[in-house]
Amino acid sequence: MSSSNLFTPLDLGFTKIQNRVLMGSMHTGLEEASGGFKRLAKFYELRAKGGVGLIVTGGIAPNFFGRLSPLGLQLSFPWQVKKHKIVTNAVHKYDTKICLQILHAGRYGYHPFVVSASQTKAPISPFKARAITKLEIKKTIFDFSNTARLAQKAGYDGVEIMGSEGYFINQFLAPRTNKRKDKYGGSLENRMRLPIEIVRSIRKKVGEDFILIFRLSMLDLVEDGMTFDEVIAFANRLEAEGVNIINTGIGWHEARIPTIATMVPRSAFTWISQRLKKEVRLPVITSNRINTFEKANEIIVSGVADMVSMARPFLSDPNFVAKAIENKTDEINTCIACNQACLDNIFKGRIASCLVNPKACHETEFENDKVLSPKKLAVVGGGPAGMSAALEAARRGHRVTLFEKSDVLGGQFQLAQRVPGKEEFKETLRYFQNQLENFNVEIRLNTEANSMILAQEEFEEAIVSTGVLPRIPNIEGINHERCVSYTETILEKKSIGQKVAIIGAGGIGFDVGEFLLHEANHDPEKELLAFLNYWGIDTDYENRGAIKPREIPEPKRKIYLLQRKDTKHGRGLGKTTGWIHRQSLKDAKVEMLGGVEYKKIDDQGLHIIYNGESKILDVDNVIICAGQTSNDTLYKELKNKLEIPVHLIGGAKLAQEIDAKRAIEEGVRLAHSI
Ligand code: NAP
Ligand code: SF4
Repeated sequence: MSSSNLFTPLDLGFTKIQNRVLMGSMHTGLEEASGGFKRLAKFYELRAKGGVGLIVTGGIAPNFFGRLSPLGLQLSFPWQVKKHKIVTNAVHKYDTKICLQILHAGRYGYHPFVVSASQTKAPISPFKARAITKLEIKKTIFDFSNTARLAQKAGYDGVEIMGSEGYFINQFLAPRTNKRKDKYGGSLENRMRLPIEIVRSIRKKVGEDFILIFRLSMLDLVEDGMTFDEVIAFANRLEAEGVNIINTGIGWHEARIPTIATMVPRSAFTWISQRLKKEVRLPVITSNRINTFEKANEIIVSGVADMVSMARPFLSDPNFVAKAIENKTDEINTCIACNQACLDNIFKGRIASCLVNPKACHETEFENDKVLSPKKLAVVGGGPAGMSAALEAARRGHRVTLFEKSDVLGGQFQLAQRVPGKEEFKETLRYFQNQLENFNVEIRLNTEANSMILAQEEFEEAIVSTGVLPRIPNIEGINHERCVSYTETILEKKSIGQKVAIIGAGGIGFDVGEFLLHEANHDPEKELLAFLNYWGIDTDYENRGAIKPREIPEPKRKIYLLQRKDTKHGRGLGKTTGWIHRQSLKDAKVEMLGGVEYKKIDDQGLHIIYNGESKILDVDNVIICAGQTSNDTLYKELKNKLEIPVHLIGGAKLAQEIDAKRAIEEGVRLAHSI
């Protein structure tokens, strides 16, 4: 146990951090956008205002070769300092410290000029890295310290050296990528020479009173990564060289092991930070899948680590810390670890945002937003789009009534939160329910709105968010008793047999697959060990990289996942999470059939043509997950019969590819325009 909690300052001697919360490094895409630094300043300023102790910026390259992309941000020249000052000045209006992360991408750079310890190619990059020369190593060490000095001039309180996730420094540390025969390769002493020289050179340039954080890869989770003894020895050297804080890095980006996605149990990796903390005197920051105040505080109180890093939770809620201080944790908009609007956006070259908070990284578009003439608004449909529109409108000062036909709010969230590995959606529901109440939205459950009600009650504008209806495909026998809809499967828990065919391999088809393969009442928190074993993460650290053979349980059911297209199954799933869903169903021996033609469903099962041949899938149930159509009947009625502005949002407007990200964003943006 520790005498500290999350709100206890961390005293580094020359400076004090006001609490134990680090807003971890996140690339937002604003760094490279035109006018992006002003937006970035607002983004960080709001988080500082919200009470976070320390911010680490997104990774900035020390030189051209180290850029993540050809136009990626680099800090190497004095003329670049000015724009960083906009950020540091904004943050320093509050008692928050900010460090610049120096990130050399090495072989993860997405351009043809990539360099690494040796000539290798990362499995996640099309570019082969050239082995850096000894002369270039010298220059690179200088470049790191030059960036640190410029960061100091720009008003940053320190720098974080990115030494994990498989980037350049990690590529020197691990035998996996370091095949050098000179003094920078071979023994641990040689492999850690580069980072040690970087740290030494930075410390010499910036003096003692400048925070130096090293993000250390504690679990590489790839073959031929570091051993734990090496991690400890390296950490001790970092301490001796004047590093102030050690941050935890988990898993190389090329590791085929999920480390931050929503199916990873909360705080799944704090055990390794705790183990390292016992070996060093420096403060240790822990990270990965910590998204609630309760978890974060427990980590500090129980002495597992000295600080907690949360990155995405600050996209979801800039006021995370302030709300926790005021004992209003129920009002925190919790990050559900979906990656859909943050990392997935970045991988598509877009500005990051947040599924549950679409204002993230768009703060400048939502300033001074209180309304001068409040209106009486009706929102019809209490799914993600309706809830977000109602909340945003009420927050701006409108008087809002939210009509919901069923007896609960949530719409598609009611389904999502029941899918194993997606339990975090319940937090979003909790957030909306609390906030709608706090902002006095009148919620009418079990109420079907119509033009008469809206006219009688003299609403001034209406927002229709009536969602979607499951598409019923035109297949002979679709009404056969063995056909079941996805809502009956997930919501109504209809009894499903041992052999199942799922028609439709979109997001919902995959979700239904997961649902049918896992135990009821699956609780990820109790299943940390099962998670670690399933993905082959070795807590005993017997092998380099802490990996071991995976333990894959026998599947509970025989499942066929079918689609008419002959493209890869789940192609439309999120970039950073789709592979996990595919792997999970593959592990469960789900047969993924593409290019299928459905013929009929009868007592024998599902008749299809596959690979040009007729086939009968002898299944107990056929579950229909064939997409959705817009439920826009009410909208048409209101448009015809009312003379007030009627707006249509979410799946009711466009069912194709509707997801919570678009639904919530449409709700917020529409409410912002009224
Ligand atoms: P979807 O992604 O559009 O998938 C619909 C599936 O149904 C496709 O596989 C399609 O494949 C099939 N289909 C369409 N019309 C059909 C027809 N007439 N007969 C038979 N099959 C038909 O829709 P969804 O699965 O309902 O998901 C809805 C939205 O929620 C999507 O945007 C999805 O991305 C999102 N979501 C995402 C996730 C996730 O990322 N994990 C989870 C849940 C939902 P063929 O046309 O090739 O047969
Ligand atoms: Fe978290 Fe999803 Fe928002 Fe990313 S998009 S910050 S993972 S809730």
